[in-house]
Amino acid sequence: MSHAQSVSIATDPPINLMGLDPVALAALMSEWGDKPFRGKQLSRWIHQRGVSNFQDMTDLALAFRERLTTRCEVACSSVLTRHVSRDLTHKWLFDVGAGNAVETVYIPEDDRGTLCISSQAGCAVACPFCSTGYQGFNRNLSVAEIIGQLWWARHDLTQSGAVTRLSQVDSESAPDQRIISNVVFMGMGEPLLNYDAVLGSLRLMLDDLAYGLSRRRVTISTSGVVPMMDRLGQDCPVALAVSLHAPNDALRDRLVPLNKKYPIAELLAACNRYLAHAPRDFITFEYIMLDSVNDELSHARELIDLAQQVPCKINLIPFNPFAQSGLKRSSANRVRAFSQCLQDAGIVTTVRKTRGDDIDAACGQLAGDIQDRTRAKQRRENGIIQSKLQDIPVVESRQ
Ligand code: SAH
Ligand code: SF4
Repeated sequence: MSHAQSVSIATDPPINLMGLDPVALAALMSEWGDKPFRGKQLSRWIHQRGVSNFQDMTDLALAFRERLTTRCEVACSSVLTRHVSRDLTHKWLFDVGAGNAVETVYIPEDDRGTLCISSQAGCAVACPFCSTGYQGFNRNLSVAEIIGQLWWARHDLTQSGAVTRLSQVDSESAPDQRIISNVVFMGMGEPLLNYDAVLGSLRLMLDDLAYGLSRRRVTISTSGVVPMMDRLGQDCPVALAVSLHAPNDALRDRLVPLNKKYPIAELLAACNRYLAHAPRDFITFEYIMLDSVNDELSHARELIDLAQQVPCKINLIPFNPFAQSGLKRSSANRVRAFSQCLQDAGIVTTVRKTRGDDIDAACGQLAGDIQDRTRAKQRRENGIIQSKLQDIPVVESRQ
């Protein structure tokens, strides 16, 4: 090997193995002239046992561990803050660099533990009821940054012992006995506008050598990126939730601006195509309840017409208010009447329980607070700050 080559290896940035699925790990091993099964061993150490220090991977040969230590790393984003609610809902805020943060929420229930993860820093869709939308789009997360949320949360929940009702995590136990049995892409960002990285992270979630989650227990939530719904159905069908939020195009154009590109009729057709591949035989339609905007009984009747065109369940979401939106949550009576109207028409309807209210664990809430507090955009434009995270206390961090 020439001198120039050895210098370049020494200065190359480390390869982050966090974002490589078992196939990619095996490919790296062959590139190095190692046996592909080393890739399987690595995947188990990293994703199943949550180990990031190569020296602790005791069944790997010493020389191999040394090589990994020089050339690779297993890294997720640093945790800026960690909050635990009275109902044991957990919320982590991850630093994804350049003044951006994303959040992850864990919701324990009797029969399942759901992790809600982010796919982008900010979001370009700009729905007026969503605080992530107000941040604008910052950047796509990488596979390592997406899967790192699951990796870190599982490690943290197992270590802290805060959640004791479910038994220890291990791939042998029944899915609903795992601390994290379900993953939903309902944090920050539009997952289908970061397709490649989301697909890579889905593959790791489903792989038996990594997290081994069932397709039925991993849910992509989308505002309706029609062509990518078709690709997902082909590449990696998992459970699908569609953010409908309005029963006609005029209103949906305002509430979910992407509707101007992919209107309701195209969206419903894409849902029906997706169902041909989906692991579940229904689509979940999410419908946020906004006072005097989309919560009249006339809206419910229009919604029934749409719901009859696709096998579906409807999940009514009480709006989580924030100052900039100027919108209000529908009253409990309104939600009840709306829900009853749908149910009377034979449509399976649920109302989302609010969890972790004392730690603002609703979508986009904490990162939204940061934005509010620092007014990052104006201040950045005025050249006052570099980072909108600079005045947030670091409660816990990890390198
Ligand atoms: N971009 C994707 C996934 C992330 S948003 C999507 O829109 O589906 C996940 C869910 O949170 C969506 O259904 C969204 O409508 C909802 N949501 C966003 N802001 C909210 C708020 N302030 N209160 C309640 N739900 C909200
Ligand atoms: Fe983006 Fe979803 Fe928020 Fe709309 S609701 S702005 S699509 S994250």
